[in-house]
Amino acid sequence: MKRRLIYILIAVLSVVTLFGTAFAAGVQQHLVQKGETLSEIAQKYQVPLKSIIQANSIKSAHRIRTGRTLRIPREALTFEDSWYKVQPGDTLFSIGRRHNVEWRDLQRINGISSPRSLQIGRMIRISERAPGFGKPLRVPLVVTSKYGYRPHPVTGRYQHHAGIDFRAATGTRVYASKAGRVIFAGRRGGYGKIVGIEHEGNFTTWYGHLSRIRVKVGQTVSQGRVIGLSGNTGISTGPHLHFEIRYKGRSEKPTKYITIP
Ligand SMILES: [Zn+2]
Repeated sequence: MKRRLIYILIAVLSVVTLFGTAFAAGVQQHLVQKGETLSEIAQKYQVPLKSIIQANSIKSAHRIRTGRTLRIPREALTFEDSWYKVQPGDTLFSIGRRHNVEWRDLQRINGISSPRSLQIGRMIRISERAPGFGKPLRVPLVVTSKYGYRPHPVTGRYQHHAGIDFRAATGTRVYASKAGRVIFAGRRGGYGKIVGIEHEGNFTTWYGHLSRIRVKVGQTVSQGRVIGLSGNTGISTGPHLHFEIRYKGRSEKPTKYITIP
């Protein structure tokens, strides 16, 4: 009789533990496990320890009762965060590719020990790659050539356009789309006078066909700083700004990051 009771107790406990974990991943509540510390929990959810303490009115961070349900504050998550529910057939790799995140980053952020056994229905926290790009011009943006494949306006050859072209009279101020460090400032082939800025998160931005360059290599620039004046240098059919956003050296569709009316 006593033994049966113990079995029931074990069964109940396992269910509770299972639910605790699933729950924790989805709705941001955490069931404190035996021996678990607050800082471990904070790390698990990548939220500041202080936020958990405040959200749960914890008086002593050293003594945290096993079995207590903690609220994991969502507001501690950055605006870059979103959640994804694992579907049948998903892998960390496919989820990562869909969201433009390295699968290893997903593994790290979500504390996944074995990426091969990804539980269907599990919520995966996606930390989008650093956004925050601003417009490189202050004049109304008029796109004269889109990103992607097109016949080259000068050579006529069908080729990939790695950036986006904005109409800009020669001498129009060009602004750093985001804070960063200047990695190139000078002439480069068809781009004419071009500035390249390196940003956090393996991003670079490029500003081509400039008439004047106002920055030097190695210089740090804040977002919105004037880096040069637009022009018509290099291979170009008329004054415009060629603007590129690159991630790990590969061009990205700029409209993914900046809104163009
Ligand atoms: Zn262009």
